Amino acid sequence: MTVEPWDQGEPSAVPELATEPPAGKRVLIVAAHADDETFGCGGLLAQHAQRGDDLLLAVLTKGDLGDPEGLYKQTDYVELRREEARQAGKALGVQEFRFFDYPDQMGRNARHLYSELRDDVQKLLDEFQPDLVYHPWLGEAHPDHWFLALAVLDVAKGAGEHVTFMGYEIWSVCIPDLVVDVGLVYDVKEAAMAKYVSQLRYYDYIPICHALDTYRTLYYPSARYCEAFVRCRGGKGMEAESAAESQELTSKRGKLSGWLRRFDPRSKP
Ligand SMILES: [Zn+2]
Repeated sequence: MTVEPWDQGEPSAVPELATEPPAGKRVLIVAAHADDETFGCGGLLAQHAQRGDDLLLAVLTKGDLGDPEGLYKQTDYVELRREEARQAGKALGVQEFRFFDYPDQMGRNARHLYSELRDDVQKLLDEFQPDLVYHPWLGEAHPDHWFLALAVLDVAKGAGEHVTFMGYEIWSVCIPDLVVDVGLVYDVKEAAMAKYVSQLRYYDYIPICHALDTYRTLYYPSARYCEAFVRCRGGKGMEAESAAESQELTSKRGKLSGWLRRFDPRSKP
């Protein structure tokens, strides 16, 4: 029997659409760097807070390499990043914060810390007992986002099915299975982003974020701004399959571009 390329399955182009976050009273947000959470899911966090949910933000790296031009005093820099995260979190409605000391670029230069990182994520789950966990999605191209996603999804395998893991996008767009309209709280997300002064000196994040969140209305034409997610249920439930598919597709995209280059007439043999 001939196997055609399309026999491997057709992609599902239509994610679920919603106007509010999934149900869940206790919400844990893990970010590799202070600002990832606001960029990736600030709209949903503001919606959670308005609904009266409990929010704990954990930032895993110190953010120590976020000032390559030395604009700030290095002795105060880590604390400055943390204070910005507290200010941004408070603007969104986050009540609790935890800061860890993993180094920037841990995903590239400190992989020996992986089991420690995974244990710290596990401890956060054990202590806070969340229903929802927001984390960078696994296809992120930034090594720290990816490294943290690996640790979270590792922990997710042993979590109960009542816990939903929500992969958010920062540097790399995901293939979402949930898109949420965040237009009504967009002013709150913008106010939170504006707190990250030290990072806005390097990147003009606000229009970049507008662009991504506007792009996400592709699925949701009546919305003005949306955030997109890849979901996975604790203990590898039903939705884990779609998350795995998205992640597999991302790695295939990487392989595909290498494969296509072989047929590019401009490339040398
Ligand atoms: Zn980041």
